Amino acid sequence: MAEIRVENLRKTFGDFVAVADSSFTIDDGDFFVMLGPSGCGKTTTLRMIAGLELPSSGAIYLGGEDVTFNRASQRDIAFVFQLFALYPHMNVRQNIGFPLKCIGRPRSEIRERVEETARLLRIDHLLNKSVSGLAGGDRQRVALGRAIVRRPMAFLMDEPLGTLDAEFRDLMCEELRLLHDRIDATTVYVTHDQLEAMSMADKIAVMNKGYVEQFGAPQEIYDRPATMFVAEFIGSPPMNFLRFHGAVAKGAAAVRMDATEVILPVLREDRPEGELALGVRPEHIRFDDASGLRGEVFEAEYLGTNQIVTVETGQGMVKARLRADTRVSAGETVGLSFLSERLSLFDVSSGRAIQ
Ligand code: ATP
Repeated sequence: MAEIRVENLRKTFGDFVAVADSSFTIDDGDFFVMLGPSGCGKTTTLRMIAGLELPSSGAIYLGGEDVTFNRASQRDIAFVFQLFALYPHMNVRQNIGFPLKCIGRPRSEIRERVEETARLLRIDHLLNKSVSGLAGGDRQRVALGRAIVRRPMAFLMDEPLGTLDAEFRDLMCEELRLLHDRIDATTVYVTHDQLEAMSMADKIAVMNKGYVEQFGAPQEIYDRPATMFVAEFIGSPPMNFLRFHGAVAKGAAAVRMDATEVILPVLREDRPEGELALGVRPEHIRFDDASGLRGEVFEAEYLGTNQIVTVETGQGMVKARLRADTRVSAGETVGLSFLSERLSLFDVSSGRAIQ
C-alpha cells in the first residue's frame, strides 16, 4: 500500500513562497505527474516527498504513515534523477546491482534480484556485457533496471528524460509507462512537458507559482480546465480565449458575440456583469458561412493530416484546427462556429472557470 498524501504542504525560502499549501492524494499504483513551467515548485514538492527538503508547514503521509519528519533513508522510496547515467567501468549486471550492493545486501540476493529485474526489462541476455558497447535503447533499460531493482514502495522521478533527444524520449516514455504497469509501484514524475504528462499520467497536478491549479485525470484537465492558466498550458495550440464584457445566467446560457449567439454548456452558477472569456479548443471550431461571428484569415499552417488556421476576429486572434483539405487563403473573410458542448467560460479577473 503506497498511497502518497500531502496536506497543506508549504515551503518558503525567506519571504519567497516556493510551494503554497498544496494538498492532494496519489492513489496506490498511480502514475502521477506534476506538470508546470520552470520555477513553479515541482522539484521542491518532490524533494519534500523524498525527504530531501523539510516542509515549512503541512504533512506528508506514505502508505498512511506520517513521514513528514522522517529522513530520506527512512522512506521506502527511490529518487531517480537522470535515467541515462551508467557506470562505464561496470558491466550490465554490476550496474543494475549497484544500489543493492550499496545497502549491503547479500550476493545471492543481489544476483537473484538483478536477474529478475533484467528479465522484466528483457535485457537478461545482456547481463555480462559491458555497458559501453550497448545500443541507446538498451542503455536506457539498464539505467531503468538500476532504478527499480530495490523495488521501493514508490518512485520519484525529476525530469528523468530531460536531456534525451526526441526519439529516445518517446521510446523511454513508452517503456517507463509499460514498466510501471508491470511493477505497479506508485510513481511521482515531474516534467514541464505537457505531451509527456498527458501520455503517461493516470493523474496530473498542474502547478503554477507554487499553487496546484488543477488535479485530475489527463482528459478531465484537457476537457474541463479549472483555470485560464491550465487551459493555456495544456494543448497545442492552446485553448483560444474570446474576451467580452457581459453577464451570464445559470442554466442554458448564451452569449452574444458579433452578430451571433453562442450557446454555452449548462452553467451551475450565475455570473454578474464583468470581463469574461469564452474558451474554445482549436479542434472545436468550424468554418460556417451562416455564422455571424466573422473574421479574416491571417495564415494557415499545413500539418499534413490537418492544418492550423489563424483567424483575426473582433475578439482577438483565434486558432482553428481544420481538415487539411479545407480550402483557405490569407485575407479571406470566414464565419466561425463552435461546438457548444465543448466550450469553457472563464471569469477573467479571477482566471477561474465558471462551472
Ligand atoms: P524547474 O523545472 O526549473 O526545476 P520547478 O518547478 O521544479 O522548476 P523548483 O525547483 O521547485 O521549481 O523551484 C521553485 C522556486 O523556488 C524557484 O523560484 C526556485 O528558484 C526557488 N528555490 C528552490 N530551491 C531554493 C533554495 N534552496 N533557495 C531559494 N530558492 C529556492
